[in-house]
Amino acid sequence: MATAALDKDAILARYRAERDKRLRPDGNDQYQEMTGGFAHYLDDPYMPVIPRAPVTDHVTFAMVGGGFAGLCVGARLAEAGITDVRIIDKAGDFGGNWYWNRYPGAQCDTASIIYLPLLEETGHMPTEKYAHAPEILEQSRRIGRTFGLYDKALFHTRVTEIEWDDERGVWVISTDRGDRFTADYVGTGTGPLHVPKLPGIPGIETFKGHSFHTSRWDYDYTGGDTNGAPLDKLKDKRVAIIGTGATAVQCVPHLARAGGTVYVVQRTPSSVDVRANAPTDPEWFKSIATPGWQKRWLDNFARNVGMGPPPAEDLVQDGWTDLTRRIREKVMGLPMEQMTPANMMAAFEDADIEKMSEIRARTDALVRDKATADRLKAWYRQLCKRPCFHDAYLQAFNEPGTHLIDTDGKGVERIDETGFWVNGQHYEVDCIIYSTGFEVGTSHERRAGFDLKGVGGKRLSEAWKDGMRTLHGLHVHGFPNAFLVQFAQGANFIVNVPHNWTDAGDTIAAILSHARATGARRIEATKEAQDKWVELLLTAQPGMAGAAADCTPGYYNNEGKATDAAAAFGVGYPLGPVAFFNYIDGWRTSGKFEGLAFS
Ligand code: NDP
Repeated sequence: MATAALDKDAILARYRAERDKRLRPDGNDQYQEMTGGFAHYLDDPYMPVIPRAPVTDHVTFAMVGGGFAGLCVGARLAEAGITDVRIIDKAGDFGGNWYWNRYPGAQCDTASIIYLPLLEETGHMPTEKYAHAPEILEQSRRIGRTFGLYDKALFHTRVTEIEWDDERGVWVISTDRGDRFTADYVGTGTGPLHVPKLPGIPGIETFKGHSFHTSRWDYDYTGGDTNGAPLDKLKDKRVAIIGTGATAVQCVPHLARAGGTVYVVQRTPSSVDVRANAPTDPEWFKSIATPGWQKRWLDNFARNVGMGPPPAEDLVQDGWTDLTRRIREKVMGLPMEQMTPANMMAAFEDADIEKMSEIRARTDALVRDKATADRLKAWYRQLCKRPCFHDAYLQAFNEPGTHLIDTDGKGVERIDETGFWVNGQHYEVDCIIYSTGFEVGTSHERRAGFDLKGVGGKRLSEAWKDGMRTLHGLHVHGFPNAFLVQFAQGANFIVNVPHNWTDAGDTIAAILSHARATGARRIEATKEAQDKWVELLLTAQPGMAGAAADCTPGYYNNEGKATDAAAAFGVGYPLGPVAFFNYIDGWRTSGKFEGLAFS
């Protein structure tokens, strides 16, 4: 579809109108924590909590979080000969988000071959282009087994305090299971999306039917299982699912197929493009799996979705690389003399409008009822919200029992004992499923559940009171021997998050090997290096917050409240992820570790 045939002004006006009607003064405060009467929503439905004695020993490395971040760090440390590693997680096993998210249809939306970490090291071939959750959870366990990470792990354990003891040069870690042990080093890999949130809908606490959050799916209630068996207990039930983000897009087709009544309650539609999943051909996989293959694929994908010169080949070939290729072609297609920032921005916008118009046309092609198809159309730029890909979501609205309840950006009015209200109409239901996502814009300590206490008892929240400050996103001055494994102020590569983790694992293993070789016991980012790094990040990307600010609200733009602090939170290396990975590779292999003081 050529942009010329599209009324760009009308489309952009619609984008603004749809955003404006969703902006609300309470931003992140519209959501509520699962505490008090809501605490049961966090219970583990999958594994019982086994009583154990408190742990009071010492380990070389303590890692908070047993998801991909913790696993990648643990694996790289093991490869470097550091095996005295303890991973602590509130879940009952490794897997992080993939431990919790077992809802029907859960699946990765970045190709498994690059999304699943350490495939080469563990010798696993992903069975599908986009693997389903059970396989992803099993890959987490496989990494745990392969690298001996189960030996010292503590599961169903929440870290409550991590405090630096300057005299002894160790971290003291306390947990909700009465543990109090020490570690030479700590890492935090608590993940960007692990604290489920509930909407603050009036009356939510009064509902007398059954309810749960998608990250704690109740198969006892719905029937079926995580492998996709039919949700047979819902045949005669009326179910509401609130929220239509990436999670709902994957589980709604399963709810629709169950044959009961399903109300899909929508505040903002997702953009849903083609999925085209396919099984992996073992012969093909054998042909590509030559030594070093996964790193080649990771690099190739990162370069294809980055804005620099693309590699000759696009190995992964999916919706992400297609999107960037289109943008790149439009921008690079400009005659040399017209390559001004304004023209490049307009070309970017044209590519985006074309893509989003195709996605909107897809709803007309797949949804039989015209009014429903219209309401399922996403009116915003594609990267305002997480783009979704699915080949059964839109068709689910053709099932006779599945009804789209569109709130026109307003959300559910209220909930009462028997159901919910939208546009003045009451819907009686037996069950409400909250597909309302996870905390992102709240404070680091609220999401982590602890607040690192560094040198002189200074808390991380205090050190960051005017915004996040790190060196490379990984080190914080005043917090020696601590590594924050997260992507902000580093690669910030959100299209393939695990790539950030394998890279951080390489960096930490290199730093610790250097410390071991030189006899250093304390490693700390200098204030000067940290200040220089933050300055580089913030001066190089002044427009980032503004770009997100004109998007419809969501967690990508701090619910429409793009403050300076939010900009600092989300900012990455100015030249993009590929440049960061190259930079940091040179940094860690130079052997100088500039900006870190070893003593
Ligand atoms: P999201 O935060 O993306 O979606 C939450 C949904 O709840 C939105 O549709 C939101 O509407 C809606 N909502 C919130 N409050 C109300 C209300 N009061 N009334 C009605 N609706 C409401 O959460 P998800 O769990 O879907 O996804 C979170 C992230 O997890 C994704 O963005 C993605 O990064 C990741 N994910 C990845 C997957 C994968 O890799 N395959 C699969 C699933 C998730 P609104 O948009 O208006 O705020």
